[in-house]
Amino acid sequence: MKSWITPFPVAIPKQEDGLQLFDTATQQKQRVSVHDNHATMYVCGITPYDATHLGHANTYVAFDLLYRYWIAAGYRVTYTQNVTDVDDPLFERAREIGVDYQELGQEQTDLFRSDMQHLNVLAPSHYLGVAETVDWIRTLVRQMMDAGVAYTVEGDDQNPAGDIYFSIEAAEQHSDWRLGSVSAYSQDEMEEIFPERGGDPDRAGKKNPLDPLIWSARREGEPYWHDDVLGAGRPGWHVECSAIAHHTLPVPFTVQGGGSDLRFPHHEFSAAHATSVTDSPMSKHYVHSGMVGLDGVKMSKSLGNLELVSNLVARGESPMAIRTLLLDNHYRSDWSYTDHALTAANQRLESWKTAMAFEQPGQAEALTTEIFSAMSDDLDAPRALEAVDAWAAQATQQAVPRDSNLQSINVAVIVDALLGIKLY
Ligand SMILES: [Zn+2]
Repeated sequence: MKSWITPFPVAIPKQEDGLQLFDTATQQKQRVSVHDNHATMYVCGITPYDATHLGHANTYVAFDLLYRYWIAAGYRVTYTQNVTDVDDPLFERAREIGVDYQELGQEQTDLFRSDMQHLNVLAPSHYLGVAETVDWIRTLVRQMMDAGVAYTVEGDDQNPAGDIYFSIEAAEQHSDWRLGSVSAYSQDEMEEIFPERGGDPDRAGKKNPLDPLIWSARREGEPYWHDDVLGAGRPGWHVECSAIAHHTLPVPFTVQGGGSDLRFPHHEFSAAHATSVTDSPMSKHYVHSGMVGLDGVKMSKSLGNLELVSNLVARGESPMAIRTLLLDNHYRSDWSYTDHALTAANQRLESWKTAMAFEQPGQAEALTTEIFSAMSDDLDAPRALEAVDAWAAQATQQAVPRDSNLQSINVAVIVDALLGIKLY
């Protein structure tokens, strides 16, 4: 899927240490350095039961921009993404509609990958689920037990079996990680968010109400794996990502990415788990994309207002117009989808296609520099699109027929390579 790199029609400026990204952990833009010419990224994948709404698409297109930026800058890039194919929301949905959770998970994962191809999102280097990595995860949970940062909560009436939790207090004593150091939320904010995002602060026997589950004991009707030390059960969500990152990327890797709803507890505890057994931060930077609403209302399963990529494509909308619309909103902003905005994105693409007939030598080089500069500044795609607008307006206005010496439609190649928008 990376064949667009060769031949690259114009020289890409080498931007070593030129990239800045807004880092959630420090709440400011940080210079992102790449060592040994190897950039590494982990982006948390979907739980496959409601693929692929525009909020998902916004996240994976955002990190696709970073992936493309690094590749174009000449780095070797390793990009890992997971799919949470064993988790409560998936089981609940499967029960609701009366199908096997694995069947639903596979169908939704296939749909997600097809949607990503429509949106011209490059495939990650590693794409892994729980079922195929459970040995890595079990090993990490055992390591946390050995390190003294995990403990068993005995069963009660509601939860008959004993589950294994991660101890915030013990981890803070054993490592440099501190609660809130990744998410940059206050104690009050974390206490408010935790139960809203799958946490169980009221579980009796926990040392700290915010301690996250890392190994859930076998329950009736749920999948489980045998483990001599941990007992039969399945992994918690945060530890899944710690283990998959640990086995596919260096420590620490360059960027941990995901939607802003993953700041806490997910990324906070994935990082804490990894740090507790490696004595190193999990990632150098934590980068989060904004949330997408529909006609001014936050998109959610419970409201039934999910705008799915596959529905838009099925009704004949252009995937490239969808991608252009996504990029017209800075990746960190929260915004709302409207059909009107998609129509405007279509018109924008048409104006660019018209301008391709008038491309002149040197224009692609100048445009490349402008797009690269915009992307260096916290992936400022809206500014990059404005640069393409400016080129298109100028070329169309001058209306000099395309120079026959140009080997290819260079502007189109650049816009595809850096922004992932195909114009032909
Ligand atoms: Zn994750």
